[in-house]
Formats: sequence, C-alpha cells, structure tokens
Amino acid sequence: MSITPKSRFNWPIVGHRGIVKYLKHCLEAGNIAQAYLFAGPAHLGKRFLAEILVNSLVCKSFHKKDGELVPCGVCECCRQLKNQVHPDVYWLKREVSEKSEKRKKNIGIDQIRELQNKLNLCSFLNSFKIAVIDEAETLSQDAANSLLKTLEEPTKNTVIILLAENTAFLPKTIVSRCQTLKFLPAANQEIFDHLLTLKVERKKAKLLAALAAGRPGLALTYLNSPQTYLTFEDEVKQFLTFLRGNIAGRFKLAGGLADAEAAKAILAVWRRVLRDLLLIKAGAPQAVSNLNLSAELEEIARDFSGQKLMRILAALEASQKYLAGNVNPKLVLENLALIF
Ligand SMILES: [Zn+2]
Repeated sequence: MSITPKSRFNWPIVGHRGIVKYLKHCLEAGNIAQAYLFAGPAHLGKRFLAEILVNSLVCKSFHKKDGELVPCGVCECCRQLKNQVHPDVYWLKREVSEKSEKRKKNIGIDQIRELQNKLNLCSFLNSFKIAVIDEAETLSQDAANSLLKTLEEPTKNTVIILLAENTAFLPKTIVSRCQTLKFLPAANQEIFDHLLTLKVERKKAKLLAALAAGRPGLALTYLNSPQTYLTFEDEVKQFLTFLRGNIAGRFKLAGGLADAEAAKAILAVWRRVLRDLLLIKAGAPQAVSNLNLSAELEEIARDFSGQKLMRILAALEASQKYLAGNVNPKLVLENLALIF
C-alpha cells in the first residue's frame, strides 16, 4: 500500500503526542527531513519512536489496525529490519573496546567515515538510506566535524536521526542542521493507562507509573526485568543508609562506588529519592515516585530539615556536574559524604 496524504498511521507510543502527530504528518505528506534530532532524557521513548519511524519509512506493505496503518512486520524489509540486517538502515553507537570490554567513551571518526561510505552507495532497495546515531552527544569532535559535512551536503533520500539526552554537548553547527524534536516526560496517567492495556494489575501499574516519573521506557524495563527493578531498589535503600549513617559510614559507602558510569547512574537514583523526601516535607507524600517505600521515606524525612535536604540536593547536583566533567568518581563521592 502506498503512502498517500490521506493515510493514517497507528503507532503504539505512550505520550509525545505533538511529536508523533508531526512525524506522521511528515510521512503522510512525503515530506521527510534530511536530519532529525530526538532530544530528551533517557527512557522517554526516543529510540522506540526512531525504530517506528524507520520501520514506517522502509515497510513495503502496511496493514490496517483500528482503521490506521501499521508497518506489516512480515514483508522482507520489516523482517530485515527486525533482524538488524536491512541493507539501507544503519544503527550507530559507541563501540565496545576489545581491551576493557566496556563501551568506548566516544563514537569515533572511523565509525562516521564508514557510515558516510555506506550512505554514498546507492540504496539497495531503491528506498531511503537511514542512519540512526544513538547517544549523539558522545560523538568525538572529529566525528562530529565529519558528520557535519554529511549534514551540510545531504544526498537525496537520506535520513539521519540523532538521539541525544543533552544537546548542550552537541556542536551547535550540528543541531542547527537538524529538525530538533524535544521529548518531554509523559503524564503518569498515560503510563498507567498503557500498563493497564498490557494487563498489568492496577496496584502494580500505579507503583510502576509513579516510579517511571514520566518515562514510559523505565516502567516497561522494570515490568519486564524484575532484576533491574531489584538493583534499582537496592540503590534507593543504599541512599537511605547513606543518609542515616555517620561520616565514617558514608565515606566508606561512597568510596566503594568507584566506577564513573555506575556512579552517574546511582547519583541519578539518589537525586530522585531526595526529590521524594522534599515532596514529603512539602506535604505532598502522594506525589513521591518510590511509593512502595513511602513509610521508610516518611520516617527519614522526619529526621531532616527541608533546608538540610536542599543542601544535600545542591551537593548531589554539583557531584553530577563533576562526574560529567570526568573528575575522579571516588573523589566526587567521598566529597559528597563529607558535605553534611
Ligand atoms: Zn513491512
């Protein structure tokens, strides 16, 4: 079925109505931009929406669901896409270092050069050539400069989708070449409703929606991976221990969190717990995200003044900035332990 101006697409996205409507309109009008920048925090659905957009660009045979068009999922293009072997679609992300087996710090220039070579070839299937660049803010400076040339001299029917949590780390020259779509948190109610459609029990759906705090992807991650949820809960409890402990205890706990990536993730969790404590202090306990730990949080909130919690929050935010600036994580966290 060809895409006509009258066709309507059915995309299973939670939230982001404005963005979804706009992208559907682009598809329906056959007016696809050369480059999009999906910007916003993790777990909002940027990658998921990119996948659906890509699928809608390559599918050769849409079918109808509730009167709206859905990529068929079974044509050759859909199958190739699903198996990540579609010859005209490239997903780029930080490579894993063979030495350390960890992901490299940057997307390197070699990766961009390789991508450019592929984009310069003719499309295998006479359709769009599409590149999705994950964590675009991790492009090295050389890689970004090289990518800029591609964005400045786009070839026909090439679509580049950049995903980025923080566009402040992207060169302005790149941002200015892209159509930027800012992803905002979805309403808790929307996430709750979506979980109900997945047959999640109401009580659990309420807990998950509160925990997700506007990030549908997070609710689904916790739903599908109980282990991830348990790890998260451990990190929350770790922070409660941290708050309750004396300086020596805090220092020891902080010193044990030496890995930079892990420290960043943990501080993000801790910040959310602080937010909950501040909400309780402000007389809004129903708005906390860690609903299942409400009683424990209320107990701790009683032991801290609002002012002190604000001071800890400021120290946490400063620590996050240091980590983003590559300061030694052990130093940053030990420093945080001494702050109160
Ligand atoms: Zn298809």
